[in-house]
Amino acid sequence: MAAAPALKHWRTTLERVEKFVSPLYFTDCNLRGRLFGDSCPVAELSSFLTPERLPYQEAVQQDFRPAQVGDSFGPTWWTCWFRVELTIPEAWVGQEVHLRWESDGEGLVWRDGEPVQGLTKEGEKTSYILTDKLGEKDPRSLTLYVEVACNGLLGAGKGSMIAAPDPEKMFQVSRAELAVFHRDVYKLLVDLELLLGIAKGLGEDNQRSFQALYTANQMVNVCDPAQPETFPVAQALASKFFGQRWGESQHTIHAMGHCHIDTAWLWPFKETVRKCARSWVTVVQLMERNPEFIFACSQAQQLEWVRSHYPGLHARLQEFACRGQFVPVGGTWVEMDGNLPSGESMVRQFLQGQNFFCQEFGKMCSEFWLPDTFGYSAQLPQIMRSCGIKRFLTQKLSWNLVNSFPHHTFFWEGLDGSQVLAHFPPGDSYGMQGSVEEVLKTVAKNRDKGRTNHSAFLFGFGDGGGGPTQTMVDRLKRLCNTDGLPRVQLSSPERLFSALEGHSGQLCTWVGELFLELHNGTYTTHAQIKKGNRECERILHDVELLSSLALARSTQFLYPAALLQDLWRLLLLNQFHDVVTGSCIQLVAEEAMCHYEDIRSHGNTLLSAAAAALCAGEPGPEGLLIVNTLPWKRTEVLALPRPGGAHCLALVTVPGMGYAPAPTPTSLQPLPPQQPVFVVQETDGSVTLDNGIIRVRLDPTGRLTSLVLVASGREAIAEGTVGNQFVLFDDVPLYWDAWDVMDYHLETRKPVLGQAGTLAVGTEGGVRGSAWFLLQISPNSRLSQEVVLDVGCPYVRFHTEVHWHEAHKFLKVEFPARVRSPQATYEVQFGHLQRPTHYNTSWDWARFEVWAHRWMDLSEHGFGLALLNDCKYGASVRGNVLSLSLLRAPKSPDATVDMGRHEFTYALMPHKGSFQDAGVIPAAYSLNFPLLALPAPGPAPAAAWSAFSVSSPAVVLETVKQARGGMGRWRVRGGAWCRPHPPLTSLRRRRPAPRAARSCCGSTRPTAVTATAGCTRRCRFKRLSCELGRGVAVGVLPLQGPHGHLLFCSCDLLERRDPTGPLLLRDNRLKLTFAPFQVQSLLLLLQPPPN
Ligand SMILES: [Zn+2]
Repeated sequence: MAAAPALKHWRTTLERVEKFVSPLYFTDCNLRGRLFGDSCPVAELSSFLTPERLPYQEAVQQDFRPAQVGDSFGPTWWTCWFRVELTIPEAWVGQEVHLRWESDGEGLVWRDGEPVQGLTKEGEKTSYILTDKLGEKDPRSLTLYVEVACNGLLGAGKGSMIAAPDPEKMFQVSRAELAVFHRDVYKLLVDLELLLGIAKGLGEDNQRSFQALYTANQMVNVCDPAQPETFPVAQALASKFFGQRWGESQHTIHAMGHCHIDTAWLWPFKETVRKCARSWVTVVQLMERNPEFIFACSQAQQLEWVRSHYPGLHARLQEFACRGQFVPVGGTWVEMDGNLPSGESMVRQFLQGQNFFCQEFGKMCSEFWLPDTFGYSAQLPQIMRSCGIKRFLTQKLSWNLVNSFPHHTFFWEGLDGSQVLAHFPPGDSYGMQGSVEEVLKTVAKNRDKGRTNHSAFLFGFGDGGGGPTQTMVDRLKRLCNTDGLPRVQLSSPERLFSALEGHSGQLCTWVGELFLELHNGTYTTHAQIKKGNRECERILHDVELLSSLALARSTQFLYPAALLQDLWRLLLLNQFHDVVTGSCIQLVAEEAMCHYEDIRSHGNTLLSAAAAALCAGEPGPEGLLIVNTLPWKRTEVLALPRPGGAHCLALVTVPGMGYAPAPTPTSLQPLPPQQPVFVVQETDGSVTLDNGIIRVRLDPTGRLTSLVLVASGREAIAEGTVGNQFVLFDDVPLYWDAWDVMDYHLETRKPVLGQAGTLAVGTEGGVRGSAWFLLQISPNSRLSQEVVLDVGCPYVRFHTEVHWHEAHKFLKVEFPARVRSPQATYEVQFGHLQRPTHYNTSWDWARFEVWAHRWMDLSEHGFGLALLNDCKYGASVRGNVLSLSLLRAPKSPDATVDMGRHEFTYALMPHKGSFQDAGVIPAAYSLNFPLLALPAPGPAPAAAWSAFSVSSPAVVLETVKQARGGMGRWRVRGGAWCRPHPPLTSLRRRRPAPRAARSCCGSTRPTAVTATAGCTRRCRFKRLSCELGRGVAVGVLPLQGPHGHLLFCSCDLLERRDPTGPLLLRDNRLKLTFAPFQVQSLLLLLQPPPN
C-alpha cells in the first residue's frame, strides 16, 4: 500500500496531483511540461490553395508558395496543401521524434505518396510520430505533405455548431515544428490521470479511492520531472496499484474502437470521403502499434469510397480485417434512417451492404449497427433475421426526452414475432474516451444488472476526429483488471455478443417499434428530399418489374443490372440518417436533389426501353402501352397523351403486373355501368362532388363539411367540425432546429381561414369531377388545391401546391373524424402498427408527433376514415382528429430549407368494415403507383396481359426483380455470396437463371390461394417478390411457354436459396402460407428447355 500523506486533507492532496499533470498551471516545473523536450521549426513550409478536393498525385504537381505558421487560408470547403520539409537535428539520435501540427482545419499527412495519419485538433490528434527512435544511420531529412481541409470536425457552422455554414470562414495552422517526445513522461501522465479519475469517480466513501489518491500522491513525492532516473520508482508504484486484481464476479466492459462518421451532415458527401481516409489511416497506425486493439467500422458506402479513392489504404484495411483487428459491422450500405425508407429500401440496404462486405472482406456482418438513428421500425427484426443478422447495437434511445428506456440488453421482437438480441452501450455514448468516469458510468447505469454481466464501450472521436487515440488505448489497457474498477477488455463485437448470448436466459423482451422521443421534426423537414425518396422508390420498383417482364418476353432484352445497382446505391446513399431526415446543410440537400434527378431520368429511359421490348412483335392499334405495376387488377381514370401535347381522360382497366392496350377514341364512350361523377355548385358557393361511392361537400373556402359513404349514408366528418382544415403552429425547438418539434408547439395552433367565394368548379364531371380554391396562409405564403373525385374511386384526392416562405412555422392539415377509438393505425415497412390516440401516460404523450408511410387510419367497429399521402411521413391522431404534417421552416443547419414551391397529394377514404377489408392498403398503393401510359415504338399489343396474380387480398406481391448475381446460382448452394462476384457488366451477358420472389403478409389464417398469369414467350429468368400488410397466402402462376420448366424455391432477403428444395407447383399454381406480417421471398429458376 502506498504511503498516506502526512495530513488528512483530501482536497489539497487531490489538487496537488492535478497540478502535477496540468497543461495550464506550473508547466515550467510539473510533469506535463516535460512531455516534449527540445524542438525546432520545420526546415521549409510551402502551400498551395485550391477549391477542389484533388487527388494526391495531382496536388503535389501544383505550384507551392512559401508559407508561414500563422498564415490564414480559406475560405470554407477549400483545401490547403502544405509541403513540409524536415531536417531532424543530429543531436536527437536515440530519441522519439514527432511532427507537432495544430490547425483548425482537419488534416491528413501523406508520406511517400500514401496517407499515413489524420491530424485533427478537436480529435486530440496533433502530432505525428516521425520515428520511435532515431537511429544513427537513419535519414534525417524528409518531405511530407499535409492536406488541410477548410472545415472543422463538425463543418463550419457560423457561431453555433448547427448554424448554416459560414462560407467566408478562414483557417490557420498554429503550430508546425519538430519535437523530442518523452515516452516515459507520457506513461506516467496516463497513470496519474487514471488514478485521479478513480479517486474522484469512486469518491470519499470508497476505500479504493483513497488507495488511488495516495498512490498518486506518493508518485508525485518520488518523481522529479527534471530527473528521468526517478521515473521508474513512480512507475512501479502505479504498476503495483493497477496489478491488484478483482474477483470473478465483476462486470466486464468490452472496449471497441469506433469512429461514427456521418456520411453527410454539416459537410458535403465529398468531404466525408476524406474524413474516412483521415480517420482510418490513423486507425491503421493504432492497430499496427497495438495488436490487441480492435476497431469496428460500419457503412459499406464509406469503405467503397476508400476503395476507389485510396486503394493502398483499402488494402491495409483488408489486411487488418484478416487479422481480426478491423471488423466491418452493420451489414448495410449506409447507416440509414430507421423510420422513413420503405421496406424494400431497407432490404436493399442489407443486400448491397452484405454483398459488399462479403466481396471485400470475405464475410458478412453478423450484427446490425445503427448507433445514431432517430427511431427504429418494428419491421427491422424480421428484415435483420432474413439478412443473416441476429444481433443489434444502438444507443440513440438514451436521447429520449421524456421516458428513460428500461433496458440496455434485451430481446427486441418485431411485428411478425422475429427476435434479435439488442444491446445499448450503458454509458450512453458511441464516442467514449476511456476515462474512469465513463467506465464507472457504464456499470452504474446498466439497467440489466444481475441479468447480464457484459457491456459495450465504444471509444474514439467520431465524424472525422480520427477515431481513437493512443492515449485512450493506453488508459483502457491499464484498466484491464484492477481492483475497484470494472474489468475492461479490448474486445470485439463478436466477443461481446457471444458473452451476452451465453447468459441471455434472464433478459427481458421489448415488443414493437423503438420510438425515439426526440427529433420528430425529421419526419417532415425538407419536403423535397422526402418526395424525391418516395418517387425514386416507386421508379426503381417499376423499372425492375417492367425489365423483368421484358426479359421474359424478349430474347433481345438485356436486364439493366449494372445501372440498376448504381441507381439503387444512389437512393440508398440519400437514406443516410442526416439526409432523408432533412437535418443536413444546403450543400448536401442540393446534391441529394441532383441524385434524385439522375434516378428519375435514367429510370424513365429504362421504363421506355422495357416498354419497347414488351411491345416488340405484338401488333396493336395505338403506340401507347398502359402498364399496371401493382399485383391486382385496376380500373382507374388516366390522362392519356394525345397528339399535339393534349391529354384526354379515359377509364382504363389493366390486369395486375401487366399491361393493356390504350383505349381508342371510340372505346372511350359510353361510360361503363358505373355512376359518373356529378359536380354541383350551390348558390352559397359550396360544391358537392358525388361518384355514387362517396359524396364530398366543400364549403365556399374549400373546407370539407361532409364526407358521406353513399351506400350506408354514413357521415365521416365529426359533427360541428370541418375537415381539410389547414393549421399553422409556431415551431421553435429548444436547440435542434431541423430535427425537433416540441410538445409545446401544439399550444400555438392557429387555423388558416380562407375567404368565401374562392371555391370554383374545375372538371365538370363524367369520369372526373373537381373543385379548386386558393388560400392565403400568411402574408408570405399561399396555397392552391384541386379536390378531385374519379368515377369508381373510393377516395377523394387533394392535389396541393404551396408557395412557402416562413420562419419557424409548421403547416399541417386536419380531419376530425366521426369515429371513436383509443388507437390509430399507421403504415410502416411491410405492415402497420397501432399507436394511442390519447395522452394517458408519459409513453403515450411522448408520441405527440409520429411517422407513417402511405396511409393512416382511425377505425371503430364497422367504420373508419383513412388518410393517404404520396410523399409525407409526419402524422398524428389525437382524439378523433387525423393530422398530416405538411411543411416546416427551420433555419439550421440549412437556412433555406423548404422555402419555395411544393406539390403533394393526399387523399381521404371513408370506409365500412375494417381498413383491411375495405381495401385501404391497395388504395394507398394505387395513389403511390399511378398507372403508366408508356409510348410504344410502333404498334402496342392488342390484348391485355398479366405476368402474375395473387388470389388473396391479404398478400401483396411487392417486388419483382432479377436475382442478384443470379445466373448460374441455381447450380450452387449456400455460401455462394461469400465469393467475389463477377463484374456486373459481364453478368448481364450471362445465360438463363433464377428469379426470386418475395411476399409478406400479416394475418393469421393460412389459406390456399392461387394466381394466374399468362406468358406466351420465351422466358429467361425472373424474380418476383411480394409483401403485404395483412393476410394469408399467395399463389403465383408462373410464366407458361416453350421455355423449359420453372422451379420455385424459397430464399432469404439476401436471395440465398433455402436448402429445403423446390416448392411444388399444382396446376401452375403455387400455394404459400403466411404468418401475420411475414415477408417471404421466392426464387424462380427458369431452366432452358432440354435440347
Ligand atoms: Zn450520425
